[in-house]
Amino acid sequence: MLNIDICFFIILKSLTIYGIILPMEYKYELHCHTGCVSRCGRVEPEEIVKLYKNEGYNGIVVTDHYSPMTFKPNWCPQKQIDFYLSGYRRMKAAAGNDFTVLLGIELRHYGTANDYLIYGIDEDFLYNAGNLMTVMEKHVYQLAHSRGYLVYQAHPFRVGMRRCNPDYIDGVEVYNGKTDLKANTKALEWAKANNKLMVSGSDFHVVKNLARGGIITDKPINNNSELLEVLKKQNFRRLERY
Ligand SMILES: [Zn+2]
Ligand SMILES: [Zn+2]
Repeated sequence: MLNIDICFFIILKSLTIYGIILPMEYKYELHCHTGCVSRCGRVEPEEIVKLYKNEGYNGIVVTDHYSPMTFKPNWCPQKQIDFYLSGYRRMKAAAGNDFTVLLGIELRHYGTANDYLIYGIDEDFLYNAGNLMTVMEKHVYQLAHSRGYLVYQAHPFRVGMRRCNPDYIDGVEVYNGKTDLKANTKALEWAKANNKLMVSGSDFHVVKNLARGGIITDKPINNNSELLEVLKKQNFRRLERY
């Protein structure tokens, strides 16, 4: 029996290597903070890649905090965005060809505790957009849309958050790995009531947040335009672990 199992495994492995059978499921983390950029993050990008590969994930969207906690008060685009991108760049360099690393942000404006996940962004946008912390929801939404990005309110029922005007978001993070079931359930109901897109993310900061959320797709995601397509069509299953 054991021998048959081993033979079957070897045949399956060979077919997979030669591209005849490809894995049918792909897992992506959509909410992840690096220790070198997000002050509350505790794990360095190279280690995050290793941990997620071990968990069978195929990629990560790096969503470091773009917030007053991250940046010094005097806005200097080149320096600050260089720093902001360093976690993403280090993770991308460590990932190799078999693991997708994409750039996202978790934006917080001055004077509020609300967080917004923006998917699809690129480096040039960040260098040229000015200080996004001064630009409130409506304007960020318009700016993001002019470039084809998607904006989601992160963990909207966590203590201290206020629900933003649903007209200024595309979607809602309905599962957040650092938020309890009750608050996530409220987020899900709010998203449904407002007919919003939905995502799931671990909100990875420390090892205990590892692989609690994300999405499962039946096609690989290699770049931000493929990610946006999957998210717009809701062409995935949400990963949710309590
Ligand atoms: Zn954080
Ligand atoms: Zn976060």
